[in-house]
Amino acid sequence: MDMRERNIVHLDLDTFFVSVERLRDSSLAGKPVLIGGLSDRAVVASCSYEARQYGVHSAMPMKLARNLCEDAIIIRGDMEMYTKYSRMVTEVIAGEAPMYEKASIDEHYIDISGMDRFFGCMKWTRELRRKIIHHTGLPISYGLSVNKIVSKIATGEAKPNGELEVVRSQVLPFLSPLSIKKIPMIGEKTYHLLRSMGIQTINTLQLMPVEMMERVLGKNGHEVWKKANGIDTAPVKPYSERKSISTERTFEKDSTDVVHLKELLVSMVEKLAYELRKKQKLCACVTVKIRYSNFDTHTLQKRIPYTSLDHTLISTAKELFVRLYKRRILIRLIGVRLSHLVGGVQQLDLFEDTPEMIRLYLALDKLRYRYGRKSILRAVGISNREESMKCECDGSVGVVHTPEDSPLPENIRQRASWQMGGSTFKRLWKINRSDYLTGNRT
Ligand SMILES: [Mg+2]
Repeated sequence: MDMRERNIVHLDLDTFFVSVERLRDSSLAGKPVLIGGLSDRAVVASCSYEARQYGVHSAMPMKLARNLCEDAIIIRGDMEMYTKYSRMVTEVIAGEAPMYEKASIDEHYIDISGMDRFFGCMKWTRELRRKIIHHTGLPISYGLSVNKIVSKIATGEAKPNGELEVVRSQVLPFLSPLSIKKIPMIGEKTYHLLRSMGIQTINTLQLMPVEMMERVLGKNGHEVWKKANGIDTAPVKPYSERKSISTERTFEKDSTDVVHLKELLVSMVEKLAYELRKKQKLCACVTVKIRYSNFDTHTLQKRIPYTSLDHTLISTAKELFVRLYKRRILIRLIGVRLSHLVGGVQQLDLFEDTPEMIRLYLALDKLRYRYGRKSILRAVGISNREESMKCECDGSVGVVHTPEDSPLPENIRQRASWQMGGSTFKRLWKINRSDYLTGNRT
């Protein structure tokens, strides 16, 4: 248990995407609304409470959602708009909170420990919530408790448009009757496993010996047990827009070869984007830096809608490079930085009608993970590889693979799972080798 009593707030916007759409079009209020791609094969990125009453939930295939709720209004998502509102909310919080973490596009944690000596914690948070609603027009809920996990679960119980405080002495009684599903760590798979053992409420987990949990859930068992018991020492990590991931490359021989420089830029962005997705983060700012041979250094940055996908990041980086590289003199160094990082998975920013795109990304990342990042690169980035490499393909989304250290089988059975809106998605499909190498979407 924590020695020092903490006061942690978790704020979460209610059906964020839907709420933003309702600001734009007030006739959507009170109606079942689905946000996502428009085709049958798209998935639901967000849905209103009215739609949830029909059993619809986020990450559900759009076709199924439409069958369940025939009257639903379906809207293609607009990440640019959501990013704008997300920033507005963060700005209000930044203006009031001593220290906060932006956990995702619609979630913040604030550590207000010690605040009660000057001002009631609940009173302060209630005022902050009112301010956010006043400035943005968006409904938001919060939980206030002794740590992040209990506050987050409390927010879930407070929704929609509510607030809930769980004091230290109430933590266990608060958690006990709740479904094990309410523990954020418990995904679809773990949930079904525990349910098959007859475990339904958090109370049962609380009563189980931790060793038994470890036997059932492996190394996650201990974490789940702690969460069930309301134990969480994770600190609120201060958010800064400056926090970033970056890479740069200095040339032994200064270069003016624009084609080569652009290719290099693409491979650098790919590397960073893969890092982002591996860390389950999205970014909303791209910076490109160039240094001329006379050591003049120039940087340019651009804010973009939250993303972790190569094609958006690459086009932004290229655009910045073209704007930066004005003088046709030798370049000594080139660098890329991605900042304004928040938690989130790549599916979030894809409201396209093509789940193939998502599948392609997942498949490529899976291979990168398995065979090493350098095994798969966009065809345009190939010539920049440090090591010698055979190009087996061409085309803008082509991929290439190093045959010597990791031969691909003829047919690749690709199993991928990803999480979205608290649910886990799974897919199994087969891609033949040549399609993989040419980037054909199957
Ligand atoms: Mg939310």
